[in-house]
Amino acid sequence: MFTGTLVLWLVAVILVYDLRQHTFGLGKGIFLCFVVLIVGGTISRFTLRQLVRPLELLRDGIERVGHGRLETIRVSQTGDEIEFLGNSFNEMIERLAQSRKEIREHQELLEVRIRQRTEALQEAMQKALAANQAKSEFLANMSHELRTPMNGILGMIDIVLDSGIGDEQREHLETAQGCAHALLALVNDLLDLSKIEAGKMVLEKIPFDLRQLLADTLKAHAAKARQKGIRLEASFTSAVPEQIIGDSLRLRQILNNLVSNAIKFTDKGSVELKVDGRISDSGRQVMLRLEVCDSGAGIPADKIPVIFDKFTQADGSITRRYGGTGLGLAITKKLVEMHRGAISVESEVNRGSCFVVELPCEIPAGPQRPLSRAEPLSEKEAASNPAPAGYSILVVEDNQVNQRVVTALLHKHGYRTVIANNGQEALEMLAGRQFDLVLMDVQMPLMDGIETTRQIRANLHWQHLPIVAMTAHAMNGDRERCLRAGMNAYVAKPVQQAHLMAVISQHIRRCRERAREMRSSIDPARAALLLDSNAGLMEDMLRLFLQLAPERLQQLNSAAGRLDFGRVFEESNKLRTAAERIAATGVVECAQRLESLAGDGDIGGIAESLNRLDREIGRLAGLAPPPVRSAPDSAYGSGRP
Ligand code: ADP
Repeated sequence: MFTGTLVLWLVAVILVYDLRQHTFGLGKGIFLCFVVLIVGGTISRFTLRQLVRPLELLRDGIERVGHGRLETIRVSQTGDEIEFLGNSFNEMIERLAQSRKEIREHQELLEVRIRQRTEALQEAMQKALAANQAKSEFLANMSHELRTPMNGILGMIDIVLDSGIGDEQREHLETAQGCAHALLALVNDLLDLSKIEAGKMVLEKIPFDLRQLLADTLKAHAAKARQKGIRLEASFTSAVPEQIIGDSLRLRQILNNLVSNAIKFTDKGSVELKVDGRISDSGRQVMLRLEVCDSGAGIPADKIPVIFDKFTQADGSITRRYGGTGLGLAITKKLVEMHRGAISVESEVNRGSCFVVELPCEIPAGPQRPLSRAEPLSEKEAASNPAPAGYSILVVEDNQVNQRVVTALLHKHGYRTVIANNGQEALEMLAGRQFDLVLMDVQMPLMDGIETTRQIRANLHWQHLPIVAMTAHAMNGDRERCLRAGMNAYVAKPVQQAHLMAVISQHIRRCRERAREMRSSIDPARAALLLDSNAGLMEDMLRLFLQLAPERLQQLNSAAGRLDFGRVFEESNKLRTAAERIAATGVVECAQRLESLAGDGDIGGIAESLNRLDREIGRLAGLAPPPVRSAPDSAYGSGRP
């Protein structure tokens, strides 16, 4: 620039001098301008190459880096700041590329590690699942293995106690019986706790009579309270629904634990069970509040937080004085929490304790009905009204001790017994003679109880033969498995004598009542003639008739409402024909009467007959076997009362 300006200035001075001296020549002027142009062009080219080009290279390089291509940029060797800048930039790119490489390597390493960890975790999970499976199988087996001999011990003690023995021997045996019950209670508690902890305990959702359950709980503890001379009282408010949907067995267990503790730790005064409920706006939910209060020993404040822990008692002397294991409240708390409820306690030493359980429950839809007699008869009821003796029971059981216990029990109550050692033998025996009931063990060699029941039910002749499962399988789902296979009831081992007898007499009586009602509502001779004694077909037709009957009834009612006597006659006629096919004499009579009343146009008589017809059909519905066997009885052989 400087040289260019100097040349330009020099040319300008020369030209001005020439002009002043009047020596200016055109050729010389043109030459000098040419020189200026050459010099200027050269200078600008030079400037462009030296200054702009390096900057352009720098810009291109920066753009490439901006697009993520970490390549070194070309730097002009200008020896100035631009070269320095370019070189620094290249260094920075190199460092960037290096750290990017390191990051990529880290990432790859991390991915490998994650893959390895995931594989290890999956492997551990498989192992944990297998261990869990093994644990539940172990639990199921333990449960079976422990209950089977316990059944033998308790059964044999019962048998000997019932025989003519001396007072001293009786006393010793009763002590042994007490110990066996205590052992059973402990086994049940331990199994319950492991079941809950293994996540194997599932709550049932079946409607049951809550007030009956409360009454039963009270009844179960009344004797103990009387023996200790303390009052046992119960009260419930009108907000407590008659029926709720839930797991009656577990609710019973919660109440039993609290009431038995209250009685155990109270030497004078009273134990009170108070129940209240808060029904939701929809009327489908209730928050039950169960309070068990006593005037007993109380619990020191510092011990309250630990009494719900397993194997924990408020005071070491308690075990010596009252016995117990410290498992009851731990199980109770877990059961309450499984119901999404809460348990709390308020207590004062020497004044008493108050345990409060809040339990959310569902209320069944529709009007509250008293419980259907699907529940077993109470033991007292059964004892006061036993099934007549002489009935014949097939005992399917592979264990010889249990065979002896059960047969002795049944003989004592006047039943006749035949033993089958497994399912196959049972089927052969059933084919050979008539039985009134089958007592079925579940786990047996050759053919188990479930398969045997399926085969029995597959035969039309044995559709209604009562089958009672009597099994040491007391794990969740066993009851459902038995009932699904077609058994009518389930009694867990070790069986309680009175309970087993109640279930047996209930089912035999129910079976007889059914047969009697069948005879009174359905003309058996005609039915046999019509259906060639095929009881299964008879039942299918009855079921079909009952499916169609409501619509027929509705048609009849609306025809009567419209005073359309022609239609009333037509519908009654159709109904009569259908009822004749199943020999339902009551319905046939009603339909016949409706036909003649329709002919007379007697609307008063028609209305009355329609009511009768409705009742007759209802009676038939009571005879039909349910399409799916509902879950009836249960018994959990608990040593706790
Ligand atoms: P267990 O009764 O077998 O000892 P629980 O888990 O049922 O075990 O009870 C734990 C402890 O809580 C008892 O040992 C006792 O100290 C205390 N406890 C429970 N209920 C009561 C009660 N109603 N009154 C006084 N103490 C109680």
